[in-house]
Amino acid sequence: MKAIRRLHVRTVLPETLAPLHELALNLRWSWHPPTRDLFASIDPELWDSTGQDPRAVLSSLRSDDMERLAQDEEFAARVRDAHEDLQRYLTRPRWYHEQGAGGQDGRTLESIAYFSPEFGITSVLPQYSGGLGILAGDHLKAASDQGIPIVGVGLFYTSGYFAQRFNAEGWQLESYPVLDPDDLPLSLLREEDGSPVVIRLDMPHGGHLDAHVWRAQVGRVPLLLLDSDVESNDSARREVTNRLYGGGGDQRLEQEMLLGIGGVRALRAFSRITGAPEPTVYHTNEGHAGFQGVERISELVTGSGLAFGEAVRAVRAGTVFTTHTPVPAGIDRFDVGAIRSHFGDESCALPGIPLDELLQLGAEDYEGGSAGVFNMAVMGMRLAQRVNGVSKLHGAVSREMFQGLWPDFDVEEVPIGSITNGVHAGTWVDRRLYDLARDHLGPEVSGRRVFNRIHEVPIEDFWSTKRELREQLISDARRRLRRSQLDRGATEAELGWTDDVLDPDALTIGFARRGATYKRLTLMLRDPERLKKLLTDPERPVQVIIAGKAHPADDTGKSLIQEMVRFTDDPEIRGKLIYLPNYDIAMAQRLYPGCDVWLNNPLRPFEACGTSGMKAALNGALNLSILDGWWDEWYDGQNGWAIPTADGVDDPDRRDDLEASALYELLEKTVVPTFYERDGSGLPERWLDMVSHTLSTLGPKVLADRMVREYTETYYWPAAHAAWAVEADDHAGARSLAGYVADVQRCWPDLHIDHVDAQGLTDAPQIGEDVEVHAFVTLGDLDPRQVRVQMAYGRANAEDTLTDVEFVDLSPTQSYGEGRHRFDGRVRLARTGALGWTVRVLPAHEHLSGAAELGLVTLP
Ligand SMILES: *Cc1c(COP(=O)(O)O)cnc(C)c1O
Repeated sequence: MKAIRRLHVRTVLPETLAPLHELALNLRWSWHPPTRDLFASIDPELWDSTGQDPRAVLSSLRSDDMERLAQDEEFAARVRDAHEDLQRYLTRPRWYHEQGAGGQDGRTLESIAYFSPEFGITSVLPQYSGGLGILAGDHLKAASDQGIPIVGVGLFYTSGYFAQRFNAEGWQLESYPVLDPDDLPLSLLREEDGSPVVIRLDMPHGGHLDAHVWRAQVGRVPLLLLDSDVESNDSARREVTNRLYGGGGDQRLEQEMLLGIGGVRALRAFSRITGAPEPTVYHTNEGHAGFQGVERISELVTGSGLAFGEAVRAVRAGTVFTTHTPVPAGIDRFDVGAIRSHFGDESCALPGIPLDELLQLGAEDYEGGSAGVFNMAVMGMRLAQRVNGVSKLHGAVSREMFQGLWPDFDVEEVPIGSITNGVHAGTWVDRRLYDLARDHLGPEVSGRRVFNRIHEVPIEDFWSTKRELREQLISDARRRLRRSQLDRGATEAELGWTDDVLDPDALTIGFARRGATYKRLTLMLRDPERLKKLLTDPERPVQVIIAGKAHPADDTGKSLIQEMVRFTDDPEIRGKLIYLPNYDIAMAQRLYPGCDVWLNNPLRPFEACGTSGMKAALNGALNLSILDGWWDEWYDGQNGWAIPTADGVDDPDRRDDLEASALYELLEKTVVPTFYERDGSGLPERWLDMVSHTLSTLGPKVLADRMVREYTETYYWPAAHAAWAVEADDHAGARSLAGYVADVQRCWPDLHIDHVDAQGLTDAPQIGEDVEVHAFVTLGDLDPRQVRVQMAYGRANAEDTLTDVEFVDLSPTQSYGEGRHRFDGRVRLARTGALGWTVRVLPAHEHLSGAAELGLVTLP
């Protein structure tokens, strides 16, 4: 029978157990082993069968279980302790407060909104597809640990991403199990009268898109998730948030409108109802939430009487945009027609936003761009005064990729910085390793101090723990493999072999990530015989565990996965290289600790950062990777291995051949011998040296704590100060900046450098000599204080291109009428060799964040 209605009967806990409710709803349990133990001890079998989900354990309790627990005084005491511990965690001052909370002029930064299309916090809340979501989850957790006052904003997807299985031919099959938010660690945001908050977006032709708001609590950090599955929507709109990255253009656009526009409205409702402070800074994780900026412009135009251009300046000041991919397919772009039909109508979603201004924000109106396309990353950059990539290399690649937005500047001056991603240790380091460190260093040594003292942990204890971690992975992998083979049509009787696949003493290599083509899952299959030899070596065997999902519409990715799954069926290597379906956080938490080597072989430079290798490193694995993303930055010759890249080789086949062959060679000649070389007591001494070196040097760098502190100091606080500055006195700063921008844009075409000369420059200048520079400039209507005139000097190559450029400001000294002015300055020659110099004029205004912000510069 099928039910015609569902209802949700809430568990009512006896008083002594009541705190369990809060403990289950606060996702801090996902990185707090004692709270997990508490729930596990209620019913260990239930704990495992619910996928280790406290909320599900509570809802499965029957009244007699509850009676039993309520009588159990020891249990009640543990509940009390856990609850007190949570309260301490939520209220104790943290790093953020110790650093002054961004204080300026008596104010502190009290709220930062963090938008992301996906959040990977725990496998119990499957609202992520890969690295972007995991990073967002780790960002919230680390912000919570550091006391950074973030509030997350995302969507609630009824079926999450999808569940992956394989058929007999190894082809990926997707299923979309429906999640019931009432069973998840979420609570519905309600008005004071108890009715659910409804966020409404007006849509064209009198329609609307409504959403409820689910609240998750990630330690100290609230996370608001909008859900379009509400009765007041028509049936199509109820499905808008059914799947992460599902559906076509219109659904995707409506998801993003809900995330951005609805997200800001959800924040307003949240503040109104709970009294939480309104955010000052808005951080968008990738372009999908870009409409948040447009909604804030609309608020300022309709609510504060700002003109569109003034509102843009106000919004930009408080916005931080992080770009995450140099892969063009990873960048979100819409057809201009779709934007028109969703925003252009009379009853447009956003009052106060002229359609052509909106279209201009996402226009690819630069060299190499496409007409007719609305680019969300480009809008992200136009609506944020601060922009960054996610590793040093990715910062450089992004400056090149988006140089078209600042065409007259050298690529180094493109205003895109970088903060290298990090990972949340509490989530990703196996608790056995925590226990090991605590046993030897004492409970008071925590956080990054553990890494400084890692050498005090006896290496043989580490090695035996590592074996336990391999065993833990293997038993999980066998269970998953068995289930996968059943899905693929095998019968129980044929599956005896899965009980003893994989060897807890063999060198274990992990490879798990999304099935995106640039990640080159099948590179290791380039020469199958050579791989087989490694896998079947009787003395020094290698085993490989692989996992990863391809996007349902990505047939290329799916066929690569199929090729790999079929390879695993080869009887010669069966059980030595295995593909586990349905990669998720729960699998990852066993996989990283159980591996000795983490393999990553993307096509450089398409891996913006990559974080799985960081998680593996924190669990004592060594990275074997192409020098891309974070590895390009932190590989030091002793913390793992770099697979040489054939960067300059244009033929992709040949490049794959070269790189695959370098990979085999490293494995055969270096990785495998080092792992199997044992000392008198059976320990791989050189290997373990590399591992302790990795933990002590890489450990502190790869932490999400470090990442969120950098975001706070480099972006959040400066953005807050900029936002306060433009918003003071009824947005006087924003108005003045917008007026200035309009003036310079009008005057710039007529501005020119008439003449430049230098005094004191002899034919053979010597280091230490002073040079006096004069620039004569026509500024038209602009005042000399409204521009910045600079001398630029640096090394000059054969084509006179300057590198290593330094700038010296020149000051206005004389005006000649008709808008002509003289600027003077002096530099001391501090370098030797072939130098060159020039002069340039830039806009100058107190509320601009840097030289290139407006993309305007005049050269002689
Ligand atoms: C860390 C992680 C990722 C991201 O891995 P990359 O190396 O960045 O590709 C994807 N999925 C899961 C489940 C993860 O834990």
